[in-house]
Amino acid sequence: MKIVLLGAPGAGKGTQAKKLIEKYGMPQISTGDLLRAAVSAGTSLGKEAKSYMDKGELVPDSVVLGMVGERLKQDDCKKGYILDGFPRNTAQAEALDKMLASLDMSLSGALSVDVPFEDLMKRLTGRRTCKSCGQMYNIYFGPPKKEGACDKCSGDLFQRDDDKEATIKKRLEVYTAQTEPLIGYYKNKGILKSVSGTGSIDEIFNKVCETLGLQ
Ligand code: AMP
Repeated sequence: MKIVLLGAPGAGKGTQAKKLIEKYGMPQISTGDLLRAAVSAGTSLGKEAKSYMDKGELVPDSVVLGMVGERLKQDDCKKGYILDGFPRNTAQAEALDKMLASLDMSLSGALSVDVPFEDLMKRLTGRRTCKSCGQMYNIYFGPPKKEGACDKCSGDLFQRDDDKEATIKKRLEVYTAQTEPLIGYYKNKGILKSVSGTGSIDEIFNKVCETLGLQ
């Protein structure tokens, strides 16, 4: 399976990607995760990226394309991959098509996870992540048993800098202007599928698997 996951920030792409990996074992390539790792490591790329991320803007295409290109060349991607949060605009989608064609790894599908716009704000402002194991919670929809602590490993929960309200507003604007048009891009190619991203995580996951034709 070689797929792109599309959807607004807060639609639950990352959560579904993680469940697909757990069950089917293909690597998830999340440009957001790769960029956050570069920020934590304090690399020059990370420092450059952070200034855009904190404002809710897209990091320049050249930075992201270089990162994805390197990752796709690694052996584990040969059996398939899930691209999560990439591409984010038409230029990235076109560059991705070229890159994948040259590696003989073209996409088998694009899956859009659709969530009503009104729900996204609460999902994003309520999101908390475990510092130790990366497990995600939502204080409104799926809170941890003990406030501020991870159910799995008791690690501290934190709110991403770019999940603060002003940044979220900007991220949603950027999504509508730059990323949403990719739904049409993949529809024109005849590889677009969509699922509703409303309901429990497991319900959505069942729909995702069914839509992708997985057992
Ligand atoms: P995400 O975790 O996918 O929501 O990404 C968090 C932030 O990282 C975004 O708001 C952007 O600033 C940056 N980012 C992630 N993926 C990309 C991408 N494909 N192109 C440009 N910027 C990105």
